[in-house]
Formats: sequence, C-alpha cells, structure tokens
Amino acid sequence: MYQMQHFIDVILPIPLEKLFTYSITAAESEFLKAGMRVAVPFGKSKIYTALVFNIHQQKPMAYEAKEIHQILDDAPITTPNQLKHWQWIAEYYMCTLGDVLRAALPNSFLLESETIISKNTDKIINDEDLKDEEFLVYEALHHQSSLKIQDLINILDKKNVFPVINSLLDKEAIVLQEEVYEKYKPKVVRHVKLNSQYSDQQKLKDLLEELSRAPKQRDVVMTLFSISAQTKKPVKVSDLSDASEASASIIKTLIDKKILEEYHFQEDRVGYSGDANEASKTLNTYQEKALEEIKLTFEKHNITLLHGVTSSGKTEVYVKLIEEVIATGKQVLYLLPEIALTTQLVSRLETYFGGKVSVYHSKYSAHERFELWHNVLQNQPKAQIVLGARSSIFLPYHDLGLVIVDEEHETSFKQFDPAPRYHARDASIVLASLFNSKTLLGSATPSLESYHNVQLGKYGLVEITHRFNDVLMPEIELVDIQDKHKRKRMNGHFSDRLIEEMTEALKEGHQIILFQNRRGFSPIVECTTCGHAPQCPNCDVSLTYHQYKNELRCHYCGYHTVMLKNCMACGSVELDNKGFGTEQVQEEAQALFPEHKVARMDLDTTRGKFGYDKIITSFEQKEIDILVGTQMLTKGLDFRNVKLVGIMNADNMLNFPDFRAHERSFQLMLQVSGRAGRTDERGKVLIQTYNPHHRILQQVSTNNYTDMYKEQMDERHNFNYPPIYRLIKITLKHKDFNKVNIGAEWYATALKQVFKSNILGPEFPPVSRIRNQFHKNILVKIPQQQSLLKTKKAIVKVNNSFLSITEFRSVRVILNVDNY
Ligand code: ADP
Ligand code: ZN
Ligand code: ZN
Repeated sequence: MYQMQHFIDVILPIPLEKLFTYSITAAESEFLKAGMRVAVPFGKSKIYTALVFNIHQQKPMAYEAKEIHQILDDAPITTPNQLKHWQWIAEYYMCTLGDVLRAALPNSFLLESETIISKNTDKIINDEDLKDEEFLVYEALHHQSSLKIQDLINILDKKNVFPVINSLLDKEAIVLQEEVYEKYKPKVVRHVKLNSQYSDQQKLKDLLEELSRAPKQRDVVMTLFSISAQTKKPVKVSDLSDASEASASIIKTLIDKKILEEYHFQEDRVGYSGDANEASKTLNTYQEKALEEIKLTFEKHNITLLHGVTSSGKTEVYVKLIEEVIATGKQVLYLLPEIALTTQLVSRLETYFGGKVSVYHSKYSAHERFELWHNVLQNQPKAQIVLGARSSIFLPYHDLGLVIVDEEHETSFKQFDPAPRYHARDASIVLASLFNSKTLLGSATPSLESYHNVQLGKYGLVEITHRFNDVLMPEIELVDIQDKHKRKRMNGHFSDRLIEEMTEALKEGHQIILFQNRRGFSPIVECTTCGHAPQCPNCDVSLTYHQYKNELRCHYCGYHTVMLKNCMACGSVELDNKGFGTEQVQEEAQALFPEHKVARMDLDTTRGKFGYDKIITSFEQKEIDILVGTQMLTKGLDFRNVKLVGIMNADNMLNFPDFRAHERSFQLMLQVSGRAGRTDERGKVLIQTYNPHHRILQQVSTNNYTDMYKEQMDERHNFNYPPIYRLIKITLKHKDFNKVNIGAEWYATALKQVFKSNILGPEFPPVSRIRNQFHKNILVKIPQQQSLLKTKKAIVKVNNSFLSITEFRSVRVILNVDNY
C-alpha cells in the first residue's frame, strides 16, 4: 500500500542557495508548522538549528532526506508575512534565505551544536530543584567538565534539549561558554540614580560646590548627571564607573552619603521607559495641514514623502499619526538611521508613548533581542511602537499599521556587509505592503530616489516649508578661501570671515558648531625631503595622523602605530601634514579662542557606551561653546542655542569619487546648517570653499532642493545612473592580485556577452586593497525596461560558471543590488 511520506523544507543559518529538505514522521507533521525551529543533522557531524519554511509530501530528487533530530518550539517564532518578506529580501538583494535568517534571528535562537556548556561553579544546586531531564544533563557534567549541545542530544535521547538548557540557565546551574551567550542568563544588576532632591538646580549646584574638595566624587556626580539627564532613569553602576573612571569605593561613599540612591534591577529587561508623562503637542497650522494632506495622499498612495525643512516639526506630525494607529491596536515601526545618535529623539517619543515604546538597539545583548522578539511576536502593548535602526525590519510583526522612515535620505539605511545587503527604507516599504499598510518617508533633503518616485506618481508628496514658530531658515554665506587678489588671510584653516562671526557669536553667548567630514589630525603625513607618506601595511591607503594619541591610524582596518619623528624612507625630520581633520580644527579653534571651551564629537570621542550622550548633554548644558564634529552632527540634533555653523571645507565632500557625491554633499551641508538658529534668532552658516561657484554650493546657499534635483537628475540621465537605471555592483576579492585581476576580466567579458552594453569595468576602486584583500568592481547598469529578474538570473549563471573554474574557486564574489 502506498504510504504518504512527510517532509519539511528548512532554512539553515548558512549560505546555501536552496532550502534543504528533511523527512518527518506523520505525528511530527501534525504538530509542525512553518516558523518553528528544528534541530537537524547536516553534513557528516554537524547539527544546526533551522527554521521550518514549509511542510509537504515531495521527496527531494537530488538526495536522500535525513530525519530531523527534534522539534525545538511549541509554536512558530516567526510569522507568515515575515517569511514572505525574507523571501523578497533574498530574491531582491541576491542573497540566501540563510543570510536573512542569520541577520534576523537573535543569536540565542540559533544555539548550535558547537555551543559548549559547563557547570556554574559559583552556584550550589540542590538536586531536588532539578527536573529529571535537567538532572541527567547536570549529572553528565559531573563526569565531563564541559559538553557540546550536540552531545546532549544523545544523552537526552533526542528529546528537546533546548528547553532543558534554557531551564538550567534560568536556574543558574550551567553556563554557556560562548561569548555571545554571556548575557543570556538573567542577573541582578546594581543601578544608581541621583537623589531626587538634586533635581532642584540650586541644590545640585550647592552639592557640586560642596564636593569641590572631593574631585573624584564630584566627577561621578557630574558624569551621572550628564548620562541620565535625558532619560532620568537609574544607570548601571558598571556603566557609571566606566564613564567616570571611578572606583567602586567612590560610588559606595556617595551611596552612603545618600547623594546616590541604589536600585537593583534584573538585567534581562529591555530598557522600557516608564509611563507616558506628557501629552503630545498641539500642531501649528502648517503641521496640521501636513497631517491632513498625508492622510489624503494615503487614500491614493501606499507611500508618502514628507518633505519638511529642518526644524519644521516633522516629528510632531509623526506623533499624531502614531497616536491614531495605535488607537486601533496596530503596531508601528519607526525607523531611524542610527539609534545611538538619536537619544534626543528617542527620549522625546518616550515622554509621549512611555510604556508602549520598545527601542531596538544594535548594541543589545542576545537576551534583550530575544525578549523584544517575543514581545513583538505576542503583540504586547509594551512593544506596540518599535523604534529601531535598520535591523528592526526583521521583527515578527503581527499587525503592522504604519511604517515611518525618518531621515529617509540617510545612506546608513543600506547594509554593506555582510549579506543581506538590504536597504531598510525599501525593504520596510515592502514589509508595510504585506500588511496592506502605509509608509511615511520623512526628510528635509529627500533622496533623489524617493523624489523621483513622487514625480512618477508612485509616492504622494506633502511639504512643510516653514520652520516651527516661523523661525527663519539660517542665512548661508559662501566664503571663498582661494581669493588671493583681495588678500584674504587664512588663520590655519579659519578664514577671517569665520573668525569674525565666531567672535561675534561667542560675545553674545551663543554656541557654535564646526563641521569637518574627516576625523584625526591630518589624513596624510608627507616627508618634504623625499615625498614618502606612510601607508597602511594591509590596505592601499595613507595612514591618518591622530595627535591626541600620537598615532598613525588606518581608517579601513584599524591598524595603528606610534607616530614617527623621522621619515621611514629617508630619515628626514621635515614632515608635513596634508589635509586636516577634526582634531586639527579643534586645536586651532582652541588656540583662536583660548577662553572658550572647545570639544569634539567624532568616532574617536564617542566610543564608550555613553560617550555620545555625555557630549550632547554638556553641549545642551552650555558647558561647551564650540563643538567640532563629523557627520555625526547632522543626525537630527535639536540644540536651542546654536547661532553659527561653520563648514570648514566643502570641497573634499564635493570631490569624492562617487556618482552620489553631489547629492550627498547637498544633504550633509543642509542638514548641518539646519542645526543653526532653531529658536528665535536667525542662524548663520558659513561654508568655506575654493569653489564658491559650484552649482551645489549655490543650491545649498539658497536652499534650492528643486534645482538640485533637476540638475542631478540630468546627470543621472546622461550617465545612466540611479534612479534612472538600476545598479548591481559585483566585487571580486582575493589576497592574490592576479587572481582578482584575471578573474574580473573573465567575469566582465562573460557579462558583456550576455548584456552587450551597460557593463562598466572591471575597475579598481579608489582603495583597492583592504585588509590584504584586493578588490575589483564591475558595475551592471539596468535600464528600467529591462527585466530585473532576468538580469539577476543571467548574473547568477555567469557567477556559477565563474566559481566552477578551479582557478577562481577561492575568489569571493559580492553582489550588491542598488549599491550605495
Ligand atoms: P524636524 O524634525 O522637522 O527638524 P522637530 O520635530 O525636531 O523638527 O521640531 C523642531 C523643534 O520644534 C523641536 O524642538 C520641537 O519640540 C518643536 N516643535 C515642533 N512642533 C511643535 C509644536 N506643535 N508645539 C511645540 N513645539 C513644537
Ligand atoms: Zn623622506
Ligand atoms: Zn588598513
């Protein structure tokens, strides 16, 4: 008699091109559903956690299906829409479902056979506290000090090992030895907060006065104030001592003196804010109008672009939309370019939505991710609004009612490495459509892509052209630093005009922002005798001089070495700094204005967990007069007292070798400018340049987005670049220069045979060797009328023949769709 066989296709967390099929029993087929995890054997001895994609009765043709080891879940941990979304991502961005799975699932969902457990020697466990299966595992650890999860599957006779392990972890009987799981087990952590009496400004002042004889204690209080000023929440003691470099005994003294209050919290809680403590603001007429228009456009469009000038109050408009959506019980995803750089915005939203906001932070531990995942999956009220960076598109939404993409023009929405190389804005639009929901994109400087979609009628458009409170847009002045005829003097990298305006602003008690898009002291150190400039040994790039550490650093691979006094090639001491970074700007500004406090905000000064918040708070508290920084300064900061913004050098942005350089420069400069004059007084922006007639600078100075759009689109038309054509960038990487070179020729020739035209390259990128790997790029340009699907199929075919050539097998090929 014919007997029905049952199979499942699973996604394995490895880059396999196809789903893999396993056989299951009839009983298992009754129970299993798509979205549950199973432990499966793979290869000779491996066991993986895999996700069930579908269940069927078709025997695989190419191989004998193995049996699964066990079922790991009682219910699906993903949703059907999520799997559809992942499938779209894998197809569109030319990666595997395994790549998507790895990016999407919290690590703790993917415990692997190789994970090692051992006894927790810090804890005495009473055998009676253990269930039978837990006892078996615990016993086994008597005889062998550590075990792989794979071994446990045998010990437990294939029963579900993961719940047993999780339960043992909860009881703190065992520990996982993999670093990523360190935070997996809950533990109680000490927190402190300033005694509430010091929320009174005067009392705080008195206290600091009183502590002036105990500078270390004073420093702790100051640090605590600055890192909790935004959130007003207790801070972990370990974070506090990291941030203030204070010993435990100093903190204890402060607790004993009742200056600090001590709290004990379980660490396995995602940082939920308290209840909402503020009603949202009443919109002004422009905002009100924008809100109505957005709703109108949503009747015809699934996607609307809100183009509102900086400080027009876009956030408050989002807030009203969110209020309406959550009132219907649906979930909201609010995407931000970088969570760590948007503390101000996050705390603003928390005051309105309190217990309903979950922040999905890229720095979250395995356990925090795990917990948030469950809260979203179960549609819990505390995760009704998810505020997150790009990876929050992977969460298991049940009933997503609205997606907001704030600062939609930001390129950090695109993931470069590793695969999936997705664009979170575009992927979130697809996600929303799976729920028949709407997406609102917001920006003061929209991407050409989005604005083009408005022109095509695909997206709706709503504009706000007035700043909140009718504050005027800042006045933007271009300062020609080349003009030799008028004998304009430069003081280091500061023009007379800039110094003049700075002096004026400081005299009036205003603050200043100086923008330079490069960190370090100078990007090239050149010997004036022989011309030698130190290079990174691993990358084809000059080392940047960092003065504060007296180091030469590579910004690509992190290599660093102490700054030499003599030229490495000829021994000369005549070394010259070429170009300049934020460190040099800071040093010069300090020399020009010795009476004022100058600080710097870039990757180097914001490394610690609270590095960024500390600088922001000091600036808000006016402890800093002049803040020098990189593009970190552009990310939606809202300072009240900044009167002047100086852009030190517009030219290096404009000359960057990338077809998006002009668009990016326009966006960056207008975004930084937007930090000036946000309250009553009109702000001023000075842009130093050698080329004040540059079209982009003219457009920036008149805030003329439409002109910029038209001219840039003409260029994109002429050179067949996005958004007119689509792009797929193919990068070949290998440590052997010849392999990359010959391989890229072969690859490009093969592509040209298929496509005839629209293949650019192969070409070495400006930095052609990174971490000892040579890179060479081929660009495939795809006209709108050409089928994307067919194009990708053709590329995959070429790719497969390429990798089947023995000589090229070890070459890494990276496919980047919609390359940014
Ligand atoms: P954008 O995101 O457009 O740059 P924001 O939303 O940050 O602008 O708003 C700029 C400033 O104006 C913020 O400090 C915000 O609190 C304030 N603001 C905006 N709308 C209102 C409103 N309706 N009532 C009171 N203050 C508002
Ligand atoms: Zn030399
Ligand atoms: Zn390097």
